[in-house]
Amino acid sequence: MAYAYDDQNIFAKILRGEIPNKTVLETEHTLAFEDIRPQAPVHVLVIPKGPYVTYDHFAETASDAEIVDFNRAVAAICRQMDVTADVGEGARFISNAGEHGVQEVPHFHLHILGGRWMGRMVAKAE
Ligand code: AMP
Repeated sequence: MAYAYDDQNIFAKILRGEIPNKTVLETEHTLAFEDIRPQAPVHVLVIPKGPYVTYDHFAETASDAEIVDFNRAVAAICRQMDVTADVGEGARFISNAGEHGVQEVPHFHLHILGGRWMGRMVAKAE
């Protein structure tokens, strides 16, 4: 079954300029902005501008140019926010997908969390 993209999701509205955002970085195919409910001193969301629902949807169907642009943007943001693991103290990268992944917004996004110790990777489900 193919993915169906809901163009009324909140990140689609951000991409169309209908809702404001605190932009961290913008490139040809990628937008990064601050999470509205930050869970760490650094909490940036990185999204492709194209209509992809999840990470695997993006990885399977986006163009090479979009995939390269996205990943280079992630690297640039980590440098910009000082959360690389070489000169900085590292970060947690999370992408929730679908029901089991507890995805709230159905437009692929990568969370970059840093600026504090992030704890164990996965908590026991409640
Ligand atoms: P997820 O559960 O991975 O889908 O997470 C969605 C994230 O989007 C949450 O961390 C929210 O705080 C964040 N979020 C929701 N609306 C906005 C918004 N208008 N601007 C920035 N972040 C948002």
